[in-house]
Amino acid sequence: AKPTVGFIGLGNMGAHQAANLIKKGHNLMVFDLSKDNVNKLKEKGASVASSPAELAKNCDVIVTMLPASKHVKGVYCGENGILSTVKPGTLLLDSSTIDPETAREVSKIASEHKATMLDCPVSGGTGGAEAGTLTFMVGGSESDFNKAKPYLECMGKNIVHCGGVGTGQVAKVCNNLVLGISMVGVSEAMNLGVKLGMDPKKLAGIFNTSSARCWSSELYNPCPGVLENSPASRGYTGGFGSALMNKDLGLAVDSAKSIGEPLPLGNSAHQVYTLLVAKGEGNKDFSVVYDFLNKRSDN
Ligand code: NAD
Repeated sequence: AKPTVGFIGLGNMGAHQAANLIKKGHNLMVFDLSKDNVNKLKEKGASVASSPAELAKNCDVIVTMLPASKHVKGVYCGENGILSTVKPGTLLLDSSTIDPETAREVSKIASEHKATMLDCPVSGGTGGAEAGTLTFMVGGSESDFNKAKPYLECMGKNIVHCGGVGTGQVAKVCNNLVLGISMVGVSEAMNLGVKLGMDPKKLAGIFNTSSARCWSSELYNPCPGVLENSPASRGYTGGFGSALMNKDLGLAVDSAKSIGEPLPLGNSAHQVYTLLVAKGEGNKDFSVVYDFLNKRSDN
């Protein structure tokens, strides 16, 4: 029988990734704090653990997909955490986006328990998670990368070895730095065009055949109605939360500060997302910045 794969963190991304592991024939054991999220995977055939510790007793490979560094620390190193019961030789694949330092620190603690932990953050959004076409940015040794690859291929299409432990997170943080800036840029420009009388679909079409073209304009346009399946067209739900983008830009800002590198637009984009979170929009998709700029109290 194939080894049992564990999955912890069944949110907007993790639920799809877990479902794809089942589809590819893996026996899956899951854990999440949300009962609703656990039940959706149970219906698809997963068995359920009562804690990360119980899950780790039963699994040879464990994938985690959690919001931020503190959740990753807790799930791995906390009371009833994975590392309290982990079997020697277990492969730990963390696909959350967290700071490279924490990734290195938890990986080191895992190695003291004779387990191998790789940072495997992803890009591709909830659509990519559902379709199994995510890009994985992997940090770890080459031989560990080769062990992880068959599992990551069940959830993604481009599996990239970035370098040693932590470099997957470096790649991801830099990717999302561009993404955060581009989303604010596309939102500003779409809003200006609409306010100046341009049809949004037509404007987006021009962008996408011109030099403004980018992922934020073409595949994730922030203006409602431009793309049928974008979060913007369903009330900014079910995508990548503004609070998570705020976290990721914060990681970029902190990393840049720690080595004295300038980040003029990254700092500005971070402030935009901090403001959105303060205004109560943290759970809405990060393209909600368009809606924020577009709204007028008199319309
Ligand atoms: P989410 O908030 O939808 O899901 C997080 C899940 O983790 C929830 O089900 C929550 O109940 C669970 N959880 C939290 N703390 C837990 C704990 N201590 N033990 C067990 N379960 C716990 O988040 P998401 O959108 O799925 O994102 C997850 C990670 O992936 C984040 O780091 C995010 O930055 C990154 N990411 C998200 C996207 C996206 O488009 N949503 C894309 C790429 C990367």
